[in-house]
Amino acid sequence: ECTVLQKEVDTLLEWSGSALIVLNQNGAILQANSRANMWLSTPGMSLIGKTLLEVTFSEELFSLFRVAVEGKDIQDREVRPTLNNLVLNVSITSLSEDPIRGRRFLMVMQNITDIRRLETIRRDFVANVSHELRTPLASIRAMAETLQDGAMSDPHVANRFLGTIVHETERLKRIAEDLLILADSESRPPQRDRLALKPLIETIIGRSRPQAEKAGLSVSYEIEQDLVILANLDQMEQVLVNLIDNAIKYTSPGGSVSVIAQKISDTAVIRFRDTGIGIMSSDLNRIFERFYRVDKGRSRASGGTGLGLSIVKHIVESHEGTVSVQSEFNHGSEFTVSIPLMKENDDEFDQN
Ligand code: ADP
Repeated sequence: ECTVLQKEVDTLLEWSGSALIVLNQNGAILQANSRANMWLSTPGMSLIGKTLLEVTFSEELFSLFRVAVEGKDIQDREVRPTLNNLVLNVSITSLSEDPIRGRRFLMVMQNITDIRRLETIRRDFVANVSHELRTPLASIRAMAETLQDGAMSDPHVANRFLGTIVHETERLKRIAEDLLILADSESRPPQRDRLALKPLIETIIGRSRPQAEKAGLSVSYEIEQDLVILANLDQMEQVLVNLIDNAIKYTSPGGSVSVIAQKISDTAVIRFRDTGIGIMSSDLNRIFERFYRVDKGRSRASGGTGLGLSIVKHIVESHEGTVSVQSEFNHGSEFTVSIPLMKENDDEFDQN
C-alpha cells in the first residue's frame, strides 16, 4: 500500500513539469527530480549532497532560501542564476520536520526562459512597427502642413509634395500588407496541397520580367521537371516573389538574376542568384530579422519594408524547410531554399 503511494508520488514529481528539490536547513540537497538535474547540474553530476550555492553559484537564490529558513515562504520569485542563462520562477516552502534529517524545505522551480525571451521579441517588434509607421506619417504630415501654409499656391511645389504624400501612403499600405502576411503565416496552419514547382517558378519569373527589364537586368532559369512538394500555394508564391524581387532590387543595371531548382536527395533545392550589391558578412546573419535592412535608404527607395526575408524564413520553416544565404560584398548573393519533396504516401491534408 505504502509503496504504491510512494510510486505515485514519485511519478507525480517526475511529470510535474517543474524542477523540485528538497533541502535541509543548511541548504544541502537531499532529493532532486530529473528536471532539477537537467537545469541545475552538468551531465553525470549528481545534485544530492551538494549545497544550493555550490550548484547554482547564485547568491540571489541562496538568500531567498535563507528567508524561507527564517520562516517566510517564498512564492513565485524570478531568479536568473548565471549558471545556464535560465530564467526560473522559484517558490520555497518548509516541509514537516523529519525525525532524522531535521527541518526540510521544498523548492519548486519553473523554467520561464522562453516566455521572457518571447516577451522581449514582442516588445521589440511593437517598438519597431511603431517606428516604421511613424516615419512615413511624419513626412506625410510635414508635406500636408507645408501645403496648408501656402505652398499650395505654387503648383510646381504642390505637385511635388502631393507626389511624396502618395508615395508615403503607398509605403504605409505595403507595411500593413506585409504585417498581415507575417501574422497570417504565424497563426494559421495553412492548407497544403500537391504543388509542382516548375510551372509556378516559371509563372512568377514571367511576371517579374517587366520589372527586371526596367532595371536593365537579364533573367534566366533552369528548373528540373518533377519537383513536387506539399505546400501552401499562396505562401510558396510569396517566398518566390520576395526572393526574386530582392534579387532584382539589389542588382545594378547590366547584371543578371538566375533561378536554379533541382532535386538533391529527397529535397527540392531552389537557388536565387544575383550579380548585385552583395551583403557584408557582418550583416548576413541579421537580414532575416524583421525590419532589418543593410541600407535603409536603398531599401526605402526600392519600396522595401524590411519584412520580406522574415516572411520567407517563416514560411519556409513552417514547411519543414530551410533558407540560407551566401554573399560576396559588391559581387552578388545567393539565397537557397530547401523544401522536402512530397513523398508517395504524403497525404494532402486540410486542417481547416
Ligand atoms: P527589404 O524590404 O528591405 O528588401 P528584406 O527583408 O527583403 O527587406 O531584406 C532585408 C535586407 O537584406 C534588405 O534591406 C537588403 O539590405 C538585404 N538583401 C536582401 N536581399 C538581398 C540581395 N539579393 N542582395 C543584396 N542585399 C539583399
